[in-house]
Parts: sequence; structure tokens; C-alpha cells
Amino acid sequence: MSVTKRILVTGGAGFLGSHLCERLVEQGHDVICLDNLFTSQKSNVEHLLGKKNFEFIRHDVTEPIFLEVDEVYNFACPAAPGHYQYNPIKTMKTSVLGAINMLGMAKRCRAKILQASTSEVYGDPEVHPQPESYRGAVNTLGPRACYDEGKRAAETLFMDYHRMNKVNIRMVRIFNTYGPRMHPYDGRVVSNFIRQALNGEAITLYGDGSQTRSFCYRDDLCEAIIRMMNGPDTFVGPVNIGNPGEFTIKQLAELVVKLTGSKSQLVFKPLPADDPLQRQPDITLARKHLNGWEPKVPLEEGLKKTIEWFRGIDMTKFRAPTPNY
Ligand code: NAD
Ligand code: UDP
Repeated sequence: MSVTKRILVTGGAGFLGSHLCERLVEQGHDVICLDNLFTSQKSNVEHLLGKKNFEFIRHDVTEPIFLEVDEVYNFACPAAPGHYQYNPIKTMKTSVLGAINMLGMAKRCRAKILQASTSEVYGDPEVHPQPESYRGAVNTLGPRACYDEGKRAAETLFMDYHRMNKVNIRMVRIFNTYGPRMHPYDGRVVSNFIRQALNGEAITLYGDGSQTRSFCYRDDLCEAIIRMMNGPDTFVGPVNIGNPGEFTIKQLAELVVKLTGSKSQLVFKPLPADDPLQRQPDITLARKHLNGWEPKVPLEEGLKKTIEWFRGIDMTKFRAPTPNY
């Protein structure tokens, strides 16, 4: 019989956090979703609000909070480049002060805590695909640094609380993940292309579209995250989670046009500074440690589900969190 745990999900109203909350509620756990709703909206967790084992707290992780919990999934942080670059100092505070506050809570409660880290810790990588042992190539001075360096500092804090205070930690490095409940105005490539294709707008390719990303469907990602949390205490990570299927951004645009049946034209815009040219996870460690986990959803199938979700929402009801999309 499985034990009911008190689980805190910070950033729980976001794209990934809301899906995690949903799965943990379904498993019967007592779930607290904490979010300041900077880049999300309550509608992501509306269907959970009436459940006895779910509660929502509007709070900013940069401020201390005292809760009694058994596990923490620390997902609070703007994740789309346009969002995290809007107020870069706040982004850094969210990663660093958020990690300190949540690690402090985990220490006090003797709770297990998992950090949502990112493939951005590898920067614009010279090693391809990227294994966890690769230390990365981040420009500390560039516009992406607030996010990349914030997440790197959070990893450092996690290791130090683990070594010094014996906090039971887990770290996952998430590669580009997509799916239903992405914010239509987050400016990320999948949401932008689908929104543009469905609205008959031009599809904006940055640079010549030859840069690559590897896209993981939300369900595959969340499955790996929950397995990591529930895995042995001896494997703390960091572990890469993603789908190694690698595509150029132009290939993605063409696929979205095909699957939506859109008449949108592709247009080329300047490549943003420090935009990584290639990215693909080496998931050898995840395969070995996560109880046979393997990403199952191919890009085309995941895109179809995502497009279906976008067709079903009223995009005018979504407030753009920042002007950058
Ligand atoms: P998202 O923007 O949808 O979710 C982030 C959530 O955190 C939002 O609900 C936002 O309102 C909340 N938040 C932001 N700052 C906060 C603060 N100071 N206090 C409380 N809540 C705050 O993005 P997502 O894609 O769901 O990302 C979730 C996590 O996963 C992030 O930590 C992100 O860095 C990480 N991640 C995501 C991806 C991806 O491809 N989706 C890749 C790598 C890492
Ligand atoms: N991108 C693009 N058009 C868009 C949005 C993004 O060509 O409308 C490109 C972007 O320059 C990057 C890739 O798509 O090379 C992925 O961008 P995203 O913001 O989704 O994530 P990240 O760069 O953080 O991986």
C-alpha cells in the first residue's frame, strides 16, 4: 500500500508544475501548489481546486514560508527566454533565494527536495550530445545568464545543503519540453509556432533555422521526474531528462505547418544573442537509474496533442506575462 505524502510543488500552476500536481493528486497525495502566477494563470489548476487533497497558495518563493511537508518539487522560475529576461535580477533571485528558502524548509522538515534544473547549465555547448559530466559554456555576461547562472547557483546550493546539512536532494536537468498548457504567449518555439500557424500569422524563425533542439513531451518528462524523486537516496543526480530526437528549428516549423494545415509563411528574424546552436541530451544516466524509463512520445505525436489543446483554448483569455513573444 502506498503512503500518502504531503507534497509541495513550487511553480505548481505553470506548464510543467500543473501537470505534476495533477499526477500527484491522482496518486492520492496531499498536494500544495505554490505559485506567484507570474507566467501562468489559475486556470491551469482550476480542475484541481475543488479536490480535498489539493490546495493553492499564492506566494513568491523569494520570500520565506513555513509549511510542513514530506517532499518538495522546486519548479518555481520563469522558463521561457522572454519571461526570464524581462526582469533578470528577479529571475536570479527566484533561482537563488527560492532554492535557499526551499532547501531551508526541506532541512527543517527533513523533507526530500527535487530541483528543476535545466540544459541551459551547458550554455552554448561545445560537446554534443551533452552528458552530465560536461561542465558547460555559459556566457556569464549575456542576456541568458540570469537564468543559466541562477540555475547553476541553485545546483551548487543543493549540493552544499546535501553535503553540509544532509538534506535529501534530487536534481534533474530538463531539456526542451512541450505540451498542453504551454502559455500561448510565452515566446517559446513550440508555442509560438503553433499559435502563429493556427492564427494564420507568419512563422518567425530566428537565424537561419539551422540551430537544433531536442523536444520532450510533457508526460515523458513528468514520469521521469516522479521516478527520480522516488528513486534511491544514493542517486541524487544531476540527471538529464529529455528526448534525444534532435530537430532543426526549420524542421519543427515545417512539421507544425504540416500538422496544422496552415497557410502561414516562414519568415526569418535575427538570432538572439547567445542562442545555443545545438542541443541534445545524453540520457544514458536516466536510462540506467530511472527504472527502465525511456521517452515514448515521438515529436509528431506530441505536437498533434499540443495542437489539439491549442485549438481548444480561447487565446484571447490569456494575458501575455511579458511583451516578449
Ligand atoms: P512556466 O513558466 O510555465 O512555470 C513556472 C512557474 O513558476 C509559473 O507558474 C510561474 O508563475 C512560477 N513562478 C515564477 N517565479 C516565481 C516566484 N518567484 N515565486 C513563485 N512562483 C514563481 O515554465 P515551465 O516550463 O513549467 O518550467 C517549470 C520549471 O522547469 C522551471 O523551473 C524551469 O526552469 C524548468 N525547466 C523547464 C523546461 C521546459 O522546457 N519546459 C526546460 C528546462 C527547465
Ligand atoms: N525560436 C525561433 N522562433 C521563435 C521562437 C524561438 O526560431 O518564434 C528559436 C530560438 O531562437 C531557439 C529555439 O527556437 O533557437 C528554441 O527557443 P526556445 O525559446 O523555445 O527555447 P531555448 O532557446 O531556451 O531552448
